[in-house]
Amino acid sequence: MRFSEVIAHMDVPTRIMASARLLASVVLFLVPFPIAAVGLRIPFAYMLGTTIFAAWTLVWVVRTVRAPEGPLVAMLTATAVVDAVALCLLTQATYEFRDPFFAWYMAEAASFSVMLKRRHAWLLGGLLGFSYFAGHVLGAHMMGSLEYIFVVLNVGVLMAVSFAVALVLGGHEQRRAAAETHRAEVLKLNDQLERSVAELRALTEITELIHSTLEVENVGPTLLDILEKVINIPAGSLYVIDKSKQETIFTASSVVGAASARAYSGLELAGTVSSGNADGALSCIELVDHNQTVVVFCAETEAVESLQPDDRIVLQAVASELVVAVENSRLYRLTKRLAITDELTDLHNYRYLQQRLDEEIGRAARYNKRLSLLMLDIDDFKHVNDTQGHLVGDAVLAEVAQVLKSTVREVDVVARYGGEEFTIILPETDASGAFIVAEKIREAISMHRFPDADGGRRVHLTVSIGLASYPVHAPDKESLLRSADDAVYHAKETGKDRVRAPRLRLRRLPAQSEEVGG
Ligand code: GH3
Ligand code: MG
Ligand code: MG
Repeated sequence: MRFSEVIAHMDVPTRIMASARLLASVVLFLVPFPIAAVGLRIPFAYMLGTTIFAAWTLVWVVRTVRAPEGPLVAMLTATAVVDAVALCLLTQATYEFRDPFFAWYMAEAASFSVMLKRRHAWLLGGLLGFSYFAGHVLGAHMMGSLEYIFVVLNVGVLMAVSFAVALVLGGHEQRRAAAETHRAEVLKLNDQLERSVAELRALTEITELIHSTLEVENVGPTLLDILEKVINIPAGSLYVIDKSKQETIFTASSVVGAASARAYSGLELAGTVSSGNADGALSCIELVDHNQTVVVFCAETEAVESLQPDDRIVLQAVASELVVAVENSRLYRLTKRLAITDELTDLHNYRYLQQRLDEEIGRAARYNKRLSLLMLDIDDFKHVNDTQGHLVGDAVLAEVAQVLKSTVREVDVVARYGGEEFTIILPETDASGAFIVAEKIREAISMHRFPDADGGRRVHLTVSIGLASYPVHAPDKESLLRSADDAVYHAKETGKDRVRAPRLRLRRLPAQSEEVGG
């Protein structure tokens, strides 16, 4: 390694120290030449001191380059001891020349103290002081008491300098270390604060998201996107489960989670969802259990195990919001269903019938399709009430509804029009098709035996059915309903237990109806 490379390897203080020592060695070696030139003798102690100093400087430089992280205090101590010996010899050799090495002692005291603790600085000052004192004692053949006093004073100065430098720099170092500790604490707090802010922001976003809609099942993917960023899990699934019904009522699952959802449903069926079950690479933790509604989070086992307490708090907060949102969504759906459902028969109600009829007539008009409507009134229902009582009457009405539903197609809309009257929309069905359906219903009802007050099944019913078809009998909803109603009236007039439809030609004349089929 070249000299320049050796120097380039060092940090700045070491480089300054190495340069100073090398320069000093060269100067020490050069000084004897002019002295010898004027015929003066070079003392042996000078050559020995110079050689020791220069040799150790080389050792020190090589060692510092080879092992820059080596034991600093040991190296400093060794250097101080060697320098003390060398300086002692040089002081002894130059005793007659007005103490030329005192400045050197001062430089040593200051520069070493920079790197030493206060305690060591005393020792260094002592060592240098002893070296200085010994150099003078050995150099002088006889010292006067005044000279002793000056030497001792200089020793005191050396020790004071060592200590003062170590004291000042030690205090500075302490303050720097304290500042560094504070800085680390502030940075840590800042990190925590940033994380808390991110969590809070995510929670706010999720809360807004899940409460922004009553159809909460649609927000799953966005919710997971936000959540996974805060808890730093690339793929997970959230489930809301109704424990009493053993039914999953909400699922939010990312791509990997979707696969794990199947494994999870296995756990769910086994009834073992509650506490961190693992299925292969999948683990689930229960976050919230509120009135039999539990929220479960599933992800890869490793990810679940690496969840921090903070992550769990975030997950639990999200789960609590989710439970409320899912409950609200369920209530909303129930309310929506109740608003269009007849309580007694569980059929659609009058309001729904009106909406649906508008839609179906609109569709039939757009696509040039037909549509039929059956209006149905139970014959002599008062008699059922009178003989069996109203409660049985109610049960009979509910059963009529079941018979109607089971007799028509899925696409047909059965509604309770009011009292013991029912309406059935038959989409894409013309009058003759509707007549067949009506006859089927009429027969089904008359064949069926309904419950009676004695717990038997002796109630026999018949129905009168009026049918009307769009567009042949009526061009709009109101006239379609009116036509079907008129046809019921006609069926009643002509003896009940039959099906009637309006006469085609009567669309332009006052209401009359005709018998369809037989
Ligand atoms: P008709 O053959 O002329 O239709 O004779 P009806 O006795 O059925 O007479 P109408 O249709 O005019 O009367 C309907 C009766 O149905 C009146 C009422 O006592 C009964 N009814 C209507 N709604 C309910 C109900 O919700 N529950 C019960 N139990 N009875 C009802
Ligand atoms: Mg009636
Ligand atoms: Mg009736």
